[in-house]
Amino acid sequence: MGFEHLIQSGIYKDKDVWRFYSVDEIIKHQSEAGIPDYVIEDFKKFIGKTWVGKGKEYKIIGFEDNNAYCDYYWILEDESHNRIYELWNSIKFYETIKMDEKIMRRIFRFLKALWKYMLYGQRVSFCIYRNRINECCECKNFEESNWTCKICGCYITKKAKMSSESCPDKRW
Ligand code: SF4
Repeated sequence: MGFEHLIQSGIYKDKDVWRFYSVDEIIKHQSEAGIPDYVIEDFKKFIGKTWVGKGKEYKIIGFEDNNAYCDYYWILEDESHNRIYELWNSIKFYETIKMDEKIMRRIFRFLKALWKYMLYGQRVSFCIYRNRINECCECKNFEESNWTCKICGCYITKKAKMSSESCPDKRW
């Protein structure tokens, strides 16, 4: 898939910053990257939600993943289409809809993994997949109860399939 297409449909990457605007585009490509339905459903709860702050009313239109600051930001827009970026947990939407920080971070990571996969990823061979899974199963950061990585929070069986993903502990 061409990068141009993704920019038009709501993704923008500038140095260390990824910006995501389009839920429709995420849904369209969800199955390619194996993103579970509940992740999309949780994310959709936030898009379009209103926030009143800084003397104005804003709507959430997307989110930004800022690698340089290692954190996530909501992209908000006022009625004149002026955009602001607010640290995702500073405006407390997740409390209103009863979602904890761990789940929110997982949603953002999943969506970023999806976009990376769409931009330059592909499915790895079964052999590579199996080696990655074996490595995880031997690792102290492997959470056996739900097959997630304790460092990144990702589901190992999904993450290990994507060539665009890597181990945060540099084991694969
Ligand atoms: S992704 Fe890396 S750090 Fe996480 S469980 Fe697997 S091997 Fe361990």
